[in-house]
Amino acid sequence: MAHSANSKGRVIFHIDMNCFYASVEMAHNPELKGKPIAIAGNPEERKGIIVTSSYEARAKGVKTTMPVWQAKKLCPDLLLMRPNFDRYREASRAIFKMLSEITPLVQPVSIDEGYLDITDTKELGTPVEIADYLQQRILKELDIPCSLGIAPNKFLAKMASDMRKPLGITILRKRELASTLWPLQIEEMHGIGAKTAEKLKKVSIHTIGDLAAHDVYSLKQLLGVNGERLKNLANGIDYRPVDPEAVHDFKSIGSSQTLAHDSTDWDELHQLLEHLVENVAKRVKRKSAAGKSVQLMIRFHNHQTITRSKTLQKYIDEKKDILFVAKELLKKHWNEEPVRLLGVSLQNLEEKRQVGEQLDLFTYRDNVKKEKLYETMEELTDKYGKNVFLSLNSEKDKEQQPRTSFQKDFLDDYKKP
Ligand SMILES: [Mg+2]
Repeated sequence: MAHSANSKGRVIFHIDMNCFYASVEMAHNPELKGKPIAIAGNPEERKGIIVTSSYEARAKGVKTTMPVWQAKKLCPDLLLMRPNFDRYREASRAIFKMLSEITPLVQPVSIDEGYLDITDTKELGTPVEIADYLQQRILKELDIPCSLGIAPNKFLAKMASDMRKPLGITILRKRELASTLWPLQIEEMHGIGAKTAEKLKKVSIHTIGDLAAHDVYSLKQLLGVNGERLKNLANGIDYRPVDPEAVHDFKSIGSSQTLAHDSTDWDELHQLLEHLVENVAKRVKRKSAAGKSVQLMIRFHNHQTITRSKTLQKYIDEKKDILFVAKELLKKHWNEEPVRLLGVSLQNLEEKRQVGEQLDLFTYRDNVKKEKLYETMEELTDKYGKNVFLSLNSEKDKEQQPRTSFQKDFLDDYKKP
C-alpha cells in the first residue's frame, strides 16, 4: 500500500470531512455518538429541512434536503438540532490550519472540503503516510472523521475521496481507471447532475467508461464545450492547479479604467461608471454569483487614491442595482478634484446557489426573524417574487450534490495568526 501514488506527475489530495456538521456536534457532545442525529434549519417546524445527518440517521434513509417531517417518519428517534455555524467554522479553521502545516498549497472549496498539492512534500513521507497522518491528527485532536483521495489530479482525487467513507484513504491511479472509475454510473461522476445524466443516457452513455469512450464531436453537440471537458475528466485528464487563492478570487469582481484625460465632468464620469458596472455585472452573472458590497475607487490627477464602499443587507447581481450604489458612492465621495481613474467592484460574493441555501436554512419564522439573513430573504422575495429560492437553487442543485456549506468568507481564516 505504501508506495508513491505517482512518481512523475503531481500528487493531489482531496480531503472531505464525513458528515461534518453532525461530526462536530458529536465531538462537542460525545453523548450524541452512535445516535441518529440531524441538523435542520428549524427542527420545530414541519417545513424545516435536513441540512446534514449522522451515519446512524442515514442508515434509516434520512437525507440532506429532506423535510424534517419525512425524516422523522423514517427515523422516529431522530435527534434534531439547529445548526451552530460558529462551531463549524471554528472546526473548519482548525482543520485547514493543520492542512496548511503540510503544504501552503491548500485550496479550500467549502467548509469541510479541500484540495492539497503534496507533489513537493516528499520529505514528510509517502502520500499514504501523509494522508494517514492528517486523518489521524484530525480525528485525535478534533474528533472529526474524514476521507482522503490521492490521485494525479483534482478530479480523480475528488472521485477517490468519495469511494471510502468514513475514514477512508483511497488512491486512484490513471492505470486503474478502467477497473475503478469507468464501471461507475454516470450520475456518480463529480460535475454531472441529474439533467446532464439524463441527456447522456439518451445517447446510451450509462457509465463513466461510456463517456470516456464516446465520440468527442457528438458530445460537443450535446453539451457544448462542457462535453469535451467531461470526456477529458472521464479519461482522467484534468490540469487545474490547486489554487490557494481561489477563495479570494471569488470574493470580489471588479473593473477599472483610466480616463483619456483628467476629468471633472460628472456626465463623463457617470458614463465611465456605467461602462465599468456593465462589465462587472456581466462577469458576476457568468459566475452565477451575487454580492453584498459595492466598492468605488477614485484616483485623482495627483495619484491620490481613495476607496469607499457600501455594504448592503441583500445580495445583488443586477447592473442597475450595482450602478445605483456606485453612483451614490461617487456623489458622496468625489470632492470635484480632477479624476484620472475610476474602479468599481462587487464584493462579498457568494455563489447564488449558496445564498439561496443560506436563506433556506433560516426560512421559517419566529426567533429566526432576528437573523439578518431573514431580512435578506424578505428583500429578495419582495424583489424577485416568492420563487426566488427555487430559481436560485434549481439549475445547479440538480447539477450537483446538495451543498450544505455556509459562507466562503472565512475559508482563509486559518492563515490568520
Ligand atoms: Mg463532507
